[in-house]
Amino acid sequence: MGKIIGIDLGTTNSAAAVWENGESHLIPNAFGDYLTPSVVSMDRDGTVYVGRIAKERLVTHPADTASVFKRFMGTEKIYSLAGKKYHPEELSALVLKRLKEDAERYLGEEVTEAIISVPAYFNDLARNATKNAGELAGFHVERIINEPSAAALYYQCRSQMEDAVMLVFDFGGGTLDVSLVECFDNIVEILAVSGDNHLGGSDFDQLIADMFWKSCGLLRNRFSAEDAAIVLERAEKCKFELTVQDAAQMCVTLAGREYQMEISRKELIREAEPLFERMAQPIRHVLSDGQKSAREVDAVVLVGGSCKMPVVQKYLNYLLQRTDIAVVSPDYMIALGAGVYAGIKERDEDIKDMLLTDICPFSLGVPQYNKADPNRDLCDVMIERNMALPVSREIVMTTVHDRQTRMRFEIYQGEAMYAEDNLPLGSITIPVPAGPEGKEKVRVRYTYDINGILVVDVQVISTGREKQLVIRNDKIKLSEEELKKRLEQLNKLKIHPRDLEENRLVLARAERLHRETTGRIRELLEERVQYFNDYLGRQDRLSINKARKQLNLFLDYVEERCLQGTTLGRTADGFPEWYESSRQAANAGEQEDYRKEEQKYERWRGGHLTS
Ligand code: ADP
Ligand code: MG
Repeated sequence: MGKIIGIDLGTTNSAAAVWENGESHLIPNAFGDYLTPSVVSMDRDGTVYVGRIAKERLVTHPADTASVFKRFMGTEKIYSLAGKKYHPEELSALVLKRLKEDAERYLGEEVTEAIISVPAYFNDLARNATKNAGELAGFHVERIINEPSAAALYYQCRSQMEDAVMLVFDFGGGTLDVSLVECFDNIVEILAVSGDNHLGGSDFDQLIADMFWKSCGLLRNRFSAEDAAIVLERAEKCKFELTVQDAAQMCVTLAGREYQMEISRKELIREAEPLFERMAQPIRHVLSDGQKSAREVDAVVLVGGSCKMPVVQKYLNYLLQRTDIAVVSPDYMIALGAGVYAGIKERDEDIKDMLLTDICPFSLGVPQYNKADPNRDLCDVMIERNMALPVSREIVMTTVHDRQTRMRFEIYQGEAMYAEDNLPLGSITIPVPAGPEGKEKVRVRYTYDINGILVVDVQVISTGREKQLVIRNDKIKLSEEELKKRLEQLNKLKIHPRDLEENRLVLARAERLHRETTGRIRELLEERVQYFNDYLGRQDRLSINKARKQLNLFLDYVEERCLQGTTLGRTADGFPEWYESSRQAANAGEQEDYRKEEQKYERWRGGHLTS
């Protein structure tokens, strides 16, 4: 049996962890990062980019790059990239495949199984799409776990807390998920979930970008989509700066002119007030649904990259009236929790067996005859959302017409008032003796378990006749054949050898910066890229590595100076001064490398410019 890993397949970033030596460990990707952006980009020649390179290509090749596809898992949405069509689950499969390869390289053994986490509110279609994505990536996926359960599991494991009620506040790139989770007697149970599907870190980016357009007196729609993408990308960087300091500067070159904005944390808080208000809603919701007061919460668990923002932490302190809210690696919590679960699944003796129960994320119901509008049945809720699973409920339904000879029950999942607006899962019909309206009665029982299996039992009371329907979601799971076909398609996509990845990344980064700069600095960038490409052609690994390091340094310089908005490029070559002043701390070996590389570059330049 191969290894099991835990995966946080995020909207913005994904991460993987493994259980080893009695602990959950993060698995670094090929670049040594723990987070892999959930972005996929394609080239016309069939090359697939996943992660950081793809993220750079969001700016340079927006039409062939896809992000935030997790939002559309389980829907019919189609993405067209480089002339081919992809479902969200196929794009997710490419991200998972990348994580699998990285894990196998890191662990030095085959990884056969994955525990993948999903938001607690994912419906059955989205859960199944996630499972399919895992299988397309070559994993055996036996268990999908809820993100808040994973976070709570890890928090409990780390803090050695025994029984506790936790408020899990997961603030990611595009979504806010708030859950109330209880750990009690080796059981992790979700008491309630709520959230805002359209509130996340990217709203802060957008806000800062809007402030930028406004403060510079520019109209966003006068600029191209690429310019807008650059402004947005800069806005996110500006947000990161505000995480570490009180004020930041944002500077962007658009159509050859430089524009700047100064922004302080205070200003951000003021402008973001509507966003903060929206954060409070789901917290109130889960406390009331879970019937707990803020005081009864033993721990507030912060999850997701956006929780790193001091303004968010401050707001939560204020809202929940507590001072003990700490942030500890919020962006890894879920992956680490999934890693703990992998340990449980491997039956490691270092870890106590915990049972993760589920809740029913959506209500399940049957249509009810609507006297006011006979063409539009109402949806009668049988199992209410947020009920702990497994659960079983029964109601009695009566005939609604004279001489009715059968009763048909359609099963729906969802919260809409009218049956037709919910997701139909299946139907069952049972014959009844003909009689006057309301005479015949049928007992309907719903039983729903953790694995998403819904059993519907119906029984006619007068005759005792019974029928059963088991809804296993087969219809939304891929058939063996279909799975094979899709696997073949995915395997045909060309993935580049791993050691080329870093080179691709530095070039993608240079390409993005090339778009963001003008004049002299742009020329210098072009020259540096040409030089690096020359080296790549020589295929000498060691010197390529050195040249790449130097190019990355140069790009750091371009990026930093661009962000600080100095009158860059007019006096040209400020790279040596920048290096001297910013890398004083670098060790002697590094400084030596830097000088040698610069000399080599200058020689190449001389030869190049004269020949
Ligand atoms: P998801 O769960 O959506 O995949 P993550 O939990 O990885 O997302 O969070 C991504 C979000 O966190 C992005 O909007 C990113 O800008 C934000 N983020 C990451 N690091 C920081 C930071 N240091 N300061 C502010 N925001 C951050
Ligand atoms: Mg997340």
